Amino acid sequence: MTFKRHDRDGLIYFTVPSFDQTGLVKHCFTTKVGGMSSGRVKGLNLGFSRPDTRESVVANFEKLCSVLGLDRKSLVLSHQVHGTSIRQVTAGDAGKGIWRDSDIKNTDGLITNKRGLTLITFYADCVPLFFLDPQRQAIGLSHAGWKGTVAGIARETVVGMKDAFASKPEDILVGIGPSICRDCYEVDGPVISRLQENLGDWRDVTVSLGKDKYLLDLQSTNKALLRKAGVKEQNITDSRLCTRCNSELFYSYRREGKDAGSLAALMQLIGSEI
Ligand SMILES: [Zn+2]
Repeated sequence: MTFKRHDRDGLIYFTVPSFDQTGLVKHCFTTKVGGMSSGRVKGLNLGFSRPDTRESVVANFEKLCSVLGLDRKSLVLSHQVHGTSIRQVTAGDAGKGIWRDSDIKNTDGLITNKRGLTLITFYADCVPLFFLDPQRQAIGLSHAGWKGTVAGIARETVVGMKDAFASKPEDILVGIGPSICRDCYEVDGPVISRLQENLGDWRDVTVSLGKDKYLLDLQSTNKALLRKAGVKEQNITDSRLCTRCNSELFYSYRREGKDAGSLAALMQLIGSEI
């Protein structure tokens, strides 16, 4: 099972079929197709720090909310630093990072059990991790670039949901979203050293190119770390989609550098508690 592609009202986005089947959440991973941004980040750029105007980014969020049926006031945005900090957000956090100032700083993962609150995290090659515990009815989104991946943000999110909501790892469904693929992602020795510290058996997720250069499969690395954290293999959905290979769908930092726009992961527990 992989992610499902949707073409709707001019937008293209992806969802996790096992999440859709629960009927508990609205969620997606965006593409750049269908947005109002022009110039270097043409398309559905959702990053305020990218080379784009605030008006275009806001218009893109409003389009997305309209297509997915989300209240624009329900959005709460992460502030990512390639760390492993996870924050539990509640009704009082609605609007932070888009409609009002935010005290959510240095936060690469958001979790909540509040219905109607829409979590948002950002990407341009890094790995989006979607978490849904249908038993405790709680959700999470994490941003896993190489630093966050090797430092264990996948495990930290599972632990965060255990601590906050009494989630059991074996109940949690996970989606591993579009990101840079192994063949597009060359790294050097120090990255592998960090990986070895946290994963131990790292050879399954890398290919050696010689001279201390490696290809690293970030999606498989996160999957291995999720399995170590107690998530069941059959509860994990892989997108196997590459942001760098698919230039018609995705922005990519490795392909476009500073001109890359931002893609986003969004998720909301259906209902209203905010
Ligand atoms: Zn690729």
